[in-house]
Amino acid sequence: MIQGSNVLPQYMLPDSMRGSTSDPANGLKDTSKDTEDEEVKDLAKYKTLFDQLNTPLIKDSDKLSKEKRDELIKERAKLYIDTLKKPIIEPKVKNLVRADDPEAGTAKATILSLVRNEDIKDIKSAILQMENTFNRKFNYPYTFLNDNEFTEDFKNQIREILPEDRIIRFGTIDPEVWNMPESIDRETYVNATRKLGSEGVGYADRESYHNMCRFYSRSFYKHPLLKDIKYTWRLEPGISLHCDIDYDVFKFMEKNNKLYGYTINVYDSAASVRTLWPRTMKFLKKHPEFINPNGAFKMLKENGQKPENFDVANGYSTCHFWTNFEITDLDFLRSEPYQKYMDFLESQDGFYYERWGDAPVRSVALSLFADKKQIHWFRDIGYYHQPYINCPGSPVGNNRCHNKCSPGKVTPWSDLDIENCQAVWIKYIMTEDELNMY
Ligand code: GDP
Ligand code: MN
Repeated sequence: MIQGSNVLPQYMLPDSMRGSTSDPANGLKDTSKDTEDEEVKDLAKYKTLFDQLNTPLIKDSDKLSKEKRDELIKERAKLYIDTLKKPIIEPKVKNLVRADDPEAGTAKATILSLVRNEDIKDIKSAILQMENTFNRKFNYPYTFLNDNEFTEDFKNQIREILPEDRIIRFGTIDPEVWNMPESIDRETYVNATRKLGSEGVGYADRESYHNMCRFYSRSFYKHPLLKDIKYTWRLEPGISLHCDIDYDVFKFMEKNNKLYGYTINVYDSAASVRTLWPRTMKFLKKHPEFINPNGAFKMLKENGQKPENFDVANGYSTCHFWTNFEITDLDFLRSEPYQKYMDFLESQDGFYYERWGDAPVRSVALSLFADKKQIHWFRDIGYYHQPYINCPGSPVGNNRCHNKCSPGKVTPWSDLDIENCQAVWIKYIMTEDELNMY
């Protein structure tokens, strides 16, 4: 038995802690105890996995010349654009379920939206696009959640724009689940978030945003309205869906054994997740058995494009699936590794003393605990949430995207191109087979 992290072999430590025993998270108290009596299991057995989790993707990235880095960035941009421009209608699998199939619309699934009463206009616009491009063919129910009661006006306006037979559920969130917990010290929170705000972390001082990130990370899948639901498609106010989708996306998830579907992969604000990675490594030391040997580790360890993010986030690229669009198998979230990880993250207070987003949290969990083959990039789904787009090319003569976006252009603001991380997924994670399927 090995006791305490100060006697762990170097390979067990995150990059930033090698050769030192101090926590890199200056200012954020380390509440996780290295319990003397906790057994760290068979460390040697996991050495190759920990080696991968401690190895940056690009060797000596710090020493790259400006020309070399520019070249790497240019190459990635080209790979992204070339991939997106490749015409696509739908994934090339034999088991797609069409609208006229008896199985259409039969997945245990719902379109899910966490939304406020005042977002009515923007959520209606998102719903109409969801209906027009997909759901009028498949008739999946909607579930709306709110930390406040929905007003009658909100509910009526939603019912008015949907067909009469569409199942619509409205739910509230228990304040115990939503609100900042008692264990958070107000003064520490205010000081920490003020500092994050001054470092440019978005929404740092907005308490409801912290609540939202925590809720989407660790609670939404336990809501009573989702008890019998296996798949959710998250829908946010104000988004656009550009392209017609003629197959049952939930059935695609089910039949092809996918745990997670996304459209956009970007870097995060590194100061919002300074300690997420070192703390995660601490968790993994206690539960190395949760690490999936086929995890998408390289996405986490990307350090070539935004090396400063990798440094500030203490060994995590900050690449993350952009969760405002996500199609999720909730059984993954309900699994032991994910739940135990959430309990651990909660004990670390980073949802409040930092501004851990649900996107990096979900992405780190997926990259560690899921087989990368079970994470699907929906390249065919045209999606826009300000400021990024997933815009696929269409075959000549096919107008499924109605010329509403420009294939391969990830953002209208070209200074944000650098934030796009999807080329890393294409180059390092996707197999040839998967690329051909998309
Ligand atoms: P952004 O996409 O990161 O800028 O964050 P959003 O403001 O879009 O919030 C993400 C999601 O959570 C959206 O679906 C919002 O409607 C929802 N949301 C955010 N804050 C609250 C809140 O305080 N109450 C409720 N009910 N929903 C919220
Ligand atoms: Mn949003």
